[in-house]
Amino acid sequence: MSAQPAKTHLFLFDIDGTLIASGGAGEYSMRLAVHDMFGVENGLQGVEIAGRTDHLITRNVFKKFGVEWTAERAAAFLDLYLAHLTVELPRKNGRLLPGIVEFLDALKERPQIAVALLTGNLERGAKIKLTHYGLWNYFEFGAYADDSFDRNRLGPFAQARAHKRHGVDFRPERTFVLGDTPHDIECGRVIGARTVAIATGGHTREQLGAHQPDFLFESLADVPAVLSTLGVA
Ligand SMILES: [Mg+2]
Repeated sequence: MSAQPAKTHLFLFDIDGTLIASGGAGEYSMRLAVHDMFGVENGLQGVEIAGRTDHLITRNVFKKFGVEWTAERAAAFLDLYLAHLTVELPRKNGRLLPGIVEFLDALKERPQIAVALLTGNLERGAKIKLTHYGLWNYFEFGAYADDSFDRNRLGPFAQARAHKRHGVDFRPERTFVLGDTPHDIECGRVIGARTVAIATGGHTREQLGAHQPDFLFESLADVPAVLSTLGVA
């Protein structure tokens, strides 16, 4: 048996607005958790969600309601959220974003590429969402909200796990951070990675362009063109 070729490229994916649109299931489940804990209907108003980690959203919710953040209270809140998420995902009209399965299949066919997650979701939430949409098994590992409140600190966790798994340091110019918000661009830039913005979430091409990502796509639907642009055709 021949040895596996060494990995040289690392692709790190955001989830919501990048791989899937949950049809609002994520935000709605968070709203239900706020309702369970604080008895308020529209409790997420004024709390920024997109591109933020679930732990930061939790902290901001607690701040809004004037309760002290404790690990126990945060865990209780996030357990409520995950329980709702499991119920709400199949109820909402979510979908895989254009070209995603084809794109992930193409990456999988290229043995030099490692594929992982870099997301503000909790690991448990990421697993619930991606299992529902049949994508979970594409990803070897991830950096999650569990690692830090601050999305900009997640990159090094992903790099460390990539190193541990493959025994190589992936060069920044061969590390791609893919996401749908300026926060994804920022957290990719922090680790010197190539930033790939995709306008399939809540931001337009123009809005993302203002943050100067290295690559900017309307969607990943044209898989051969995207692979070629990224230099991995
Ligand atoms: Mg996103």
